[in-house]
Amino acid sequence: MPSADALLSSVFGFDAFRPGQEEIVRTVVAGENTLAIMPTGGGKSLCYQLPALCRDGVTVVISPLIALMRDQVRALKQAGVEAGALTSGNTEAETDAVFSAIDEGRLKLLYMAPERLASGGTDRLLRRADVRLIAVDEAHCVSQWGHDFRPDYLRIGALRAALDVPLAAFTATADEETRAEIVTRLFGDAAPRVFLRGFDRPNIHLAFQPKNNPRRQVLGFAAARKGQSGIVYCATRAKTESLAAALREAGHAACHYHGGMEAESRRSVEERFQQEDGLIVAATVAFGMGVDKPDIRWVAHADLPKSIEAYYQEIGRAGRDGAPAETLTLYGADDIRLRRAQIDEGLAPVERKAADHGRLNTLLGLAEALGCRRQRLLAYFGETAEPCGNCDLCNAPPDTFDGTEAVRKALSAILRTEERFGTGHLIDILLGTETDRIRARGHDRLPTFGVGRDFDKRQWQAIFRQMMGRDLVRPDPERHGALRMTEAARPILRGEEGLTLRRDALKAPDRPVVKTM
Ligand code: ADP
Ligand code: ZN
Repeated sequence: MPSADALLSSVFGFDAFRPGQEEIVRTVVAGENTLAIMPTGGGKSLCYQLPALCRDGVTVVISPLIALMRDQVRALKQAGVEAGALTSGNTEAETDAVFSAIDEGRLKLLYMAPERLASGGTDRLLRRADVRLIAVDEAHCVSQWGHDFRPDYLRIGALRAALDVPLAAFTATADEETRAEIVTRLFGDAAPRVFLRGFDRPNIHLAFQPKNNPRRQVLGFAAARKGQSGIVYCATRAKTESLAAALREAGHAACHYHGGMEAESRRSVEERFQQEDGLIVAATVAFGMGVDKPDIRWVAHADLPKSIEAYYQEIGRAGRDGAPAETLTLYGADDIRLRRAQIDEGLAPVERKAADHGRLNTLLGLAEALGCRRQRLLAYFGETAEPCGNCDLCNAPPDTFDGTEAVRKALSAILRTEERFGTGHLIDILLGTETDRIRARGHDRLPTFGVGRDFDKRQWQAIFRQMMGRDLVRPDPERHGALRMTEAARPILRGEEGLTLRRDALKAPDRPVVKTM
């Protein structure tokens, strides 16, 4: 059987679990009875779809929403998974196809409306199929006092008892009473493991910083935490090695870790990290799966993670013991370009690429946020929260300014040069710098030439980065480095929308900027 981690990316195309998913998936795969309460949009379906693929036999999914079942079956089939649905909306051919997939032992997921359970034929079918797991979506429908009560849900308990297989139930809405009712009606005396806790990790301090001298930023962060165990995640293998060396030079115990190392050396780093106090590991994302150290005191990202899910999973390795832990995530325009290019150049179908750009946007939105980061992060995972008091923006609210005018000037420079140039050249135009390239192209005669002198070069770089972070402009995948305007920028250009930018990102660095990493 393939591992859950491998299937997560190969079948579902995700690079990390969302909060809560991993533990739930492991429990369901292990065949334990499970009740999971997750917010809407939190990613419940993965919690039974993935285990279905990790386990032998068929998983029966009971769901009251026919449209949703059909969507899921379509998506699963597209991903190459044998799935089928038995609903009142089926054509005869669809139903026949499901039956033969069952008889040939191919089917992995069988979606079924609860009404189906009332027919004797279903009983015979399920006994014939090699059912190994029952998943129940919208499990609160079994509650007679709830407004979504579906009488046929009451048959599920008997089905579980008859088939004698584990059951995993999911819902977004369940107060204590409803939970108790779900447990008695669906599980009988086979009490499930319940996943209820929110996804917040309040002991983890959240912070982001734009890159200005990234190596110095990481070394500074580590220096303030000398003697504590920490992880620095890097985007490349080479950087893990150079950064580990720099950390050692600065007097830390540090080593590197990446997927290109011999299994033997990787294991030895894992063991050292587990046993020693105060070791720093500079690693690619390959480090972490097997690491279960409760007292990791900090996690730093030397480069922007791949997605908001990856970010959450990676910082979540800190402070498992519940004691205060700190994180710092660095990001820059180069990261944004790199991550966009990785998505554009990947082999995924267009819809998935669009979704990946969207997830990257969410992470960038978090990076450039103007208010509490935790509130924003939790909102993405479906939870509401008050400002946390434990993130950099709660500690020191950012200074902002009305950036509408500046952004309009930048967009106009992009459009007047037909979206064919990168940040450096665009900034030269805005500042009215007479380079050879500017003169050769006649850009010194553009009406935008020199209109941006109220900011300096560094400030314009920060403005462009924030524009990229808000997906107002994107690198052109066909033309290296050139920026194109996105649809999201139109209302600003037309004067229908304004835009607030962060000023702190524009402040001069306290030391000259030297690019060493
Ligand atoms: P619900 O909990 O409301 O049933 P879904 O299972 O429909 O939520 O998932 C909501 C969205 O989250 C879907 O678009 C799904 O593709 C996406 N999603 C689920 N898990 C992940 C993950 N690990 N990484 C990225 N996206 C995910
Ligand atoms: Zn906060």
